[in-house]
Amino acid sequence: MASILDRVRQGVVVGDGGYLLELERRGYADSGSEREKVGTGKGSGQFTPEVAVENPDALRGLHREFLAAGAQVLQALTFFATREKLSRAGYGAQTEAINAAAVRIAREVAGGNALVAGSVSRTQLFEREGPSPAGHVRDLLAEQVQLLVAAGVDFLILETFFHLEEMRIALQFAAASGLPVVATMSFRPTTERCSDGHSPAECARQMADGGAALVGANCEQEPARMLPILRAKRDAIGGRVGLAAQPAAFRTTDAAPCFTKLPQFPDDLETIQVSRRDFRAFGRQARQEGIAYVGGCCGCNAAYIRALARGVADP
Ligand SMILES: [Zn+2]
Repeated sequence: MASILDRVRQGVVVGDGGYLLELERRGYADSGSEREKVGTGKGSGQFTPEVAVENPDALRGLHREFLAAGAQVLQALTFFATREKLSRAGYGAQTEAINAAAVRIAREVAGGNALVAGSVSRTQLFEREGPSPAGHVRDLLAEQVQLLVAAGVDFLILETFFHLEEMRIALQFAAASGLPVVATMSFRPTTERCSDGHSPAECARQMADGGAALVGANCEQEPARMLPILRAKRDAIGGRVGLAAQPAAFRTTDAAPCFTKLPQFPDDLETIQVSRRDFRAFGRQARQEGIAYVGGCCGCNAAYIRALARGVADP
C-alpha cells in the first residue's frame, strides 16, 4: 500500500474519529468524573486506553465503523499509553501489552484497506509538574515510540500536545524512527498561544524543522474555530510540509475556546455537540484550503467521519 506521504500527494486523506470519548460513551473507558475534577491535566487514570486488552471487541468494532465510514487511516488506540500515565490508572505493568494489542487490532481491521498510525500524546507531566520533568518525559516518549515502531505501524501521529517543548521531545524520537510523522498541537486555554506561549505559526515552523511531514492542530476546538489556527500554520510553513487537522465536535465559546475547559466536560458534552453537517462543510473547506489530512477528534463518531469524507468528495 502507498505510504502516507504518497497518499497525501494524490489528494486529501481522510482519517478516523475520536476513540476514547466514543468508547467512554459506550462504557469501555473511564472519564474519571466520578472520582475527581476532569480537565485540569492532573487527573490520575482519566481516559486511558486499557480497552485494547480488556475489551478488544469494543475497540475492533469502532475501528470497523470508521473504516466503513470512509477512513483511509486507522489510528491504533495508543493515546495516553505512556507508562507513567497508564501507571496512574493501574495499568503500568501492561504498557507493552496495551501498545502491542492496540496496533495488532487496528492492523487486523485495516487489512489492505487502510494505513495504520501509532498515536503518541503528551505525558501530562508538564501540566502536573511544570517543565522540570523533561528527562522523565524523554524516557517515557522514547519508550512508547519504540513500542509502536516494533509493533509495525505505518506512520506516527503525535497529537494533543499542549506544550511545544514536549512536542519537540516526541518529534525527536519519532523522526529518528525513520517513519513519516504527523504532528498536531492542541491549543488551550487560548487559540493564540500554546500552553508554553508559542503562536500557532511558531509551533508549525518548529514542528516542520523537527522533521514532521505534516503539521497542524487537533482536538479542543470545533472546525470553525480551528480554521484560523490552521491558516496561521499554513502561512508559516509556506508549503514546506503539508497540513493536518483533526477538530473536535464540540461548540466552544470566545471566553473558553477549548472544550475541556468548559463546564460541560465531560458529563454534559451532548449539549454542545456540533452537527455532522458542520463536518461535511469542513471536509469541503479543507480541500479548498489545501489541508492534506483531515480526521475528527473528540466527539466524532462514524457519522461524523462519513460526513467529512462526503465533504472532501463534494464538488
Ligand atoms: Zn480530542
